[in-house]
Amino acid sequence: MALLSIRDLVKCYPSEGEEPVTVVDVGAFELASGEQVLLQGESGSGKSTLLNLIAGIVVADSGEILLGGENVCSLSESARDAHRARSLGYVFQNFNLLNGYTCLENVELGMSFGTGVDGEFALQLLDRVGLSNRRSYRPDQLSQGQRQRVAIARALANRPKLVLADEPTGNLDPTNAAVALELIQSLCSENGAALLFVSHDPQLESKFERVIDLAELNQAACLSSDRGCGK
Ligand code: ADP
Ligand code: MG
Repeated sequence: MALLSIRDLVKCYPSEGEEPVTVVDVGAFELASGEQVLLQGESGSGKSTLLNLIAGIVVADSGEILLGGENVCSLSESARDAHRARSLGYVFQNFNLLNGYTCLENVELGMSFGTGVDGEFALQLLDRVGLSNRRSYRPDQLSQGQRQRVAIARALANRPKLVLADEPTGNLDPTNAAVALELIQSLCSENGAALLFVSHDPQLESKFERVIDLAELNQAACLSSDRGCGK
């Protein structure tokens, strides 16, 4: 059975004075356990919305998202929060670290919402991204590349089955971007997590076994039925 299985997923947003706009319309998409996929697509094509739907941050209009056998779309808001904390790691373009806390605390805070704080594993993760000697620094005392490495450690903190990465290299210079990509990929492999990695950088294509363009996923869905909004 696939780790992630999406069927007939539709998300629309209202647009001023017009028909609602269909942003995501995915007929079928599956991700196997441990698989690493690069998701491409033009700006505004719905990549972040798709990740947020999988994470249960955004609620779908229709369809289903089975993650580890659980349908994210049918969970209550609090159940989605719990599910996200336990099953998912998320890496963002702008890191989303908490500046009032140290690097170690940022990793441990992720655990406190999920499977419980494991200080030893948090430190092990920080060490793995080369930052155990910065454990007591706050994010604003770190470089951009270092901040993203803390965020990568945090994403693995609850030993998630799936890591979602939304343009995580977008704010980094080429050297730090390469380091971040390498760390995300190896940490996912080492910890048995699948990876759905969004980027519009074509140079990353060679780093992934499977590359998908969201336009193709959306288009396939449109061809297979007349789903969508305002139809
Ligand atoms: P991408 O990540 O591929 O750049 P997004 O998923 O952020 O694309 O956005 C896809 C489309 O959905 C865009 O046209 C955007 O304006 C629209 N959109 C995203 N979030 C909202 C929202 N909360 N309300 C209305 N429209 C939105
Ligand atoms: Mg986006």
